Amino acid sequence: MDLKSRIEQRLGTTIDRADDRALYYALLGLVKEMCHEKETVKGSRKLYYISAEFLIGKLLSNNLINLGIYDEVKSILSQNGKSIEAVEEIEPEPSLGNGGLGRLAACFIDSMATLGLNGEGVGLNYHYGLFKQCFRDNKQREEKNPWIEKESWLTNTGVHFNVQFKDFSVQSTLYDIDVPGYDNGVNKLHLFDVDTLDESLVGDGIDFDKRNIQKNLTLFLYPDDSDKAGQLLRIYQQYFMVSNAARLIIKEMDDKGYDIRTLAEHVVIQINDTHPSMVIPEMIRLLMERGVGFDEAADIVSRTCAYTNHTILAEALEKWPVSYLEEVVPHLLPIIRRLDEKVRGKYNDERLAIIDSQNRVHMAHMDIHYGFSVNGVAALHTDILKNSELKQFYDIYPWKFNNKTNGITFRRWLMHCNPELSDYITQLIGGEWKKDASKLSELLKYKDDENVLKRLIEIKSARKAELSDYLKRTQGISIPADSIYDIQVKRLHEYKRQQMNALYVIYKYKEIKAGRLPKTPVTMIFGAKAAPAYTIAKDIIHLILCLEKLINNDPQVSPYLKVVMAENYNVTLAEHLIPACDISEQISLASKEASGTGNMKFMLNGAVTLGTMDGANVEIHDLVGDDNIYIFGKSSNEVINLYNTRGYHPTDYYDKDETITELVDFIISKDMIRIGDPENLCRLYKEMINKDWFMTLLDIKEYIAVKERMLNDYEDRMAWASKMLVNTAKAGFFSSDRTIDEYNRDIWKL
Ligand SMILES: *Cc1c(COP(=O)(O)O)cnc(C)c1O
Repeated sequence: MDLKSRIEQRLGTTIDRADDRALYYALLGLVKEMCHEKETVKGSRKLYYISAEFLIGKLLSNNLINLGIYDEVKSILSQNGKSIEAVEEIEPEPSLGNGGLGRLAACFIDSMATLGLNGEGVGLNYHYGLFKQCFRDNKQREEKNPWIEKESWLTNTGVHFNVQFKDFSVQSTLYDIDVPGYDNGVNKLHLFDVDTLDESLVGDGIDFDKRNIQKNLTLFLYPDDSDKAGQLLRIYQQYFMVSNAARLIIKEMDDKGYDIRTLAEHVVIQINDTHPSMVIPEMIRLLMERGVGFDEAADIVSRTCAYTNHTILAEALEKWPVSYLEEVVPHLLPIIRRLDEKVRGKYNDERLAIIDSQNRVHMAHMDIHYGFSVNGVAALHTDILKNSELKQFYDIYPWKFNNKTNGITFRRWLMHCNPELSDYITQLIGGEWKKDASKLSELLKYKDDENVLKRLIEIKSARKAELSDYLKRTQGISIPADSIYDIQVKRLHEYKRQQMNALYVIYKYKEIKAGRLPKTPVTMIFGAKAAPAYTIAKDIIHLILCLEKLINNDPQVSPYLKVVMAENYNVTLAEHLIPACDISEQISLASKEASGTGNMKFMLNGAVTLGTMDGANVEIHDLVGDDNIYIFGKSSNEVINLYNTRGYHPTDYYDKDETITELVDFIISKDMIRIGDPENLCRLYKEMINKDWFMTLLDIKEYIAVKERMLNDYEDRMAWASKMLVNTAKAGFFSSDRTIDEYNRDIWKL
């Protein structure tokens, strides 16, 4: 049967008579059916990518692209007066991730399926995901984000396990989501859930009773962990995730008739950050239940598990108090203690211990001792792990350490989100780049071709107009389509330094007030969710929203400068923002951003990076060269040195530089206090001059100077377009297909 008939059969009517919602469900059903018709990827060795987050985004278009029927479906719809874009908008976005780490996991499962690797994701099926961000009174409010509908991408597999906690047990149910590879077979994303969940537990906002575990376990991703009940819930979630994963792995070993002692030959477990670390003691425990001795079980598991480190922020490295683990999973503690004793027997170095002197379990230390691979996520990050953060481990296990620079799937981040650019690239160099991203470099031969450069500018303008429409339609925000789009979108964190960008906004506002006008108007776009309990991050959002009100309502300034904080930054919004961007803000304090992947998405879509030498920015710089990126700020070595010597004092910068004083004082100026909440603004002001832990004032002057130079350079349209082209052409390295190929070559060996 042809596609049109298959769609209409599901609709029970003709396409022209169906509404967008009915079309969405028909296509959802059809895609699931086609996935089930496809071959699943097989092999005798399998990778389980365990992750607390899979920020998969909407799936319809991506799956249509990967199944190779996107264009056909699009034209069938349009022949019948329907638009695929309108149908796409019906789909709710699953918000099963915070940010980069979860989005990385999503790109990875896409690439594994595309490369035909036998690898699957394992995680949790959070009903309300992270949270939906709303702005009220210039502040962030959190609301639940329900995404599971009666018909969804989830398929109930009928697989159940019983997971034992200290005083009770819960029964799990496994749901699968199909992951079709691009022009290849289909893999699975396994999401575990509990049948006893009670959605009515959630009251106003995202508040719920954190103690009733049977009813709340999979309600939210990372519930507020600012109190003990929240931290215990995280441990419950993590154990639930890994116990199910371990059970699933053993079940699949049994189904295939493999001896459990050959686990390491048939299975690799990639531990994505420390959230799944308890899989190590849990797997050892399950092997021991099967009669394997402790030492042998520990050895088998050590040859099976590999760990990815995503951060050097000390506060983000999980350390669970032994007493909390006693409360939740007492049966793991004898094993964790024995693992610690083994380490202590071998090395007399407190820094290597799993259980520290304050009775806390260092999850990362367990991963490093009892895994065979430790990888960082960008070259600089891995170097910092080896030379400072994890040096004591690198000294004893140099062979375990390796780098895997992150990547992004070009299916979603170019073909889907920017079809015009994608098609134009294909017109110029053919379509081979879709399977071999390194081929994008063939674009370089057009770097001085005026016709090509003009067309790139046209495409960028079209994307800006589209973004302008989209923001108007979905958020009621107006931005001029002919201004420079300067975009900073990512989770809100002080180390990412949105506050530094906000100080730039203040600078520009004052400049315009003083009559120094930009040649082309500038639109500063922000998007960021703050963790619900992260006070200063929320204060920064408040600052930006107040600046937005002040500036956009000032008739003297707003023709030249607009500020926009887009609400609820998520994958869908990213897909609209990124193709429209001129200036990509990647301004983290050097040494703090492990890799970044937003930087790669922007580069691929022809934005020019304004960044520090941090994370993968370093590799972007190496690839495009000085002329095609704008770098500023202190180096990671200088920053690490400042931390070690306690050499940074914000007051030095605040007191000694008049411009800095003026910019920071503006936060609590009369104009701002009139719009905002004095409590939030004053707290942020004090934080910035007294603490400024992530050194905003260290780099602010240079940041302003380089951004001004960049805005100036934008005026030479051909020279700028050439930079755009070079960025797209050099982005091939950042395909997650390359990253996954390296994981497989060096770690998984599937
Ligand atoms: C890519 C992505 C991120 C990660 O952005 P960074 O700039 O690397 O922190 C976060 N959120 C969403 C929705 C993304 O698509």
